[in-house]
Amino acid sequence: MSDPAVAISDLRAYRLPMRVRFRGLTERTGLLLRGPAGWGEFSPFPEYGPVYAARWLLAAREAATQPFPTPLRTEVAVNTTIPAVDPQQAHRLAAGSGCRTAKVKVAETGQDLATDVDRVAAVRDALGPEGRLRVDANGAWDVESAVLAIARLDRAADGLEYVEQPCRTLEELREVRRRAVAPIAADESIRTAEDPLRAARTDAVDVLVLKVQPLGGVRPALAVAEAAGLPVVVSSALESSVGLAAGVAFAAALPELPYDCGLGTAALLASDVTDAPLVPRDGLLPVRRVAPDPASLDQAAPGPDETAAWLERLRAASQVVDGDTPPDAPTG
Ligand SMILES: [Mg+2]
Repeated sequence: MSDPAVAISDLRAYRLPMRVRFRGLTERTGLLLRGPAGWGEFSPFPEYGPVYAARWLLAAREAATQPFPTPLRTEVAVNTTIPAVDPQQAHRLAAGSGCRTAKVKVAETGQDLATDVDRVAAVRDALGPEGRLRVDANGAWDVESAVLAIARLDRAADGLEYVEQPCRTLEELREVRRRAVAPIAADESIRTAEDPLRAARTDAVDVLVLKVQPLGGVRPALAVAEAAGLPVVVSSALESSVGLAAGVAFAAALPELPYDCGLGTAALLASDVTDAPLVPRDGLLPVRRVAPDPASLDQAAPGPDETAAWLERLRAASQVVDGDTPPDAPTG
């Protein structure tokens, strides 16, 4: 299968099981494109329509047809992610991760603040005083709950690096930021290239979590970071190692990289499209491209119906990119 219009010589769908359920997913699926510069990944989540997915396609085409920008570093540090588990398990995961930075999930449905406090304290103990600790509430709190929770978690953590998406909207984040003791970061609030600029302009947050695919590629992501003028945490969209390499390229090309990246997510996959996956060693990822290998691709290949469905998603997104429908609004 090929797409001569953009010099794509090979298209391969993948389906990879996940070790743990994440973002409600038990497996990750996507499409890999090979072009003259290497492989790119097109893996918009299942609920995204073609207009929003068009940005993700631009990222895949960039990776397949252009070299990544010149890196300013040879490796990037990543955080480990601690799910909403009990304190003993959280301690074990953080201590065994090899990472100096941990992101702890908090505000999980059905759990209370005391549970979060215990988990955060356990992770601080595991990291030691030099470790960096951030929490992610995935927008679950209202403003009042967020202010209270952040005060208690900041104490339990002996200082939080930042709090990711304490509430849902930018307006709420702005209010929390005014009253909270820790810096605030936006993640879910950033869906398009305009969102980071709005977040910066309205003083809603201190830090931006940016991902390559939703922003349309490494170069557009670099432009957004520069225009927003806020520190950036480079994160993944739970891609295979091919897509993660674009995130690493983004992080490697940023003039400043004060925060460790959320790019260690290949560790969440039970298998990958390559036998040399981009998994962190001692909390670091090397800056390199990733090419899938034939055996891993065969093993990851979904059935013909799912492959056909991915080719149809590619066709629909290509029509948005190459046709005259402006790719300006998320539909999913
Ligand atoms: Mg997040």
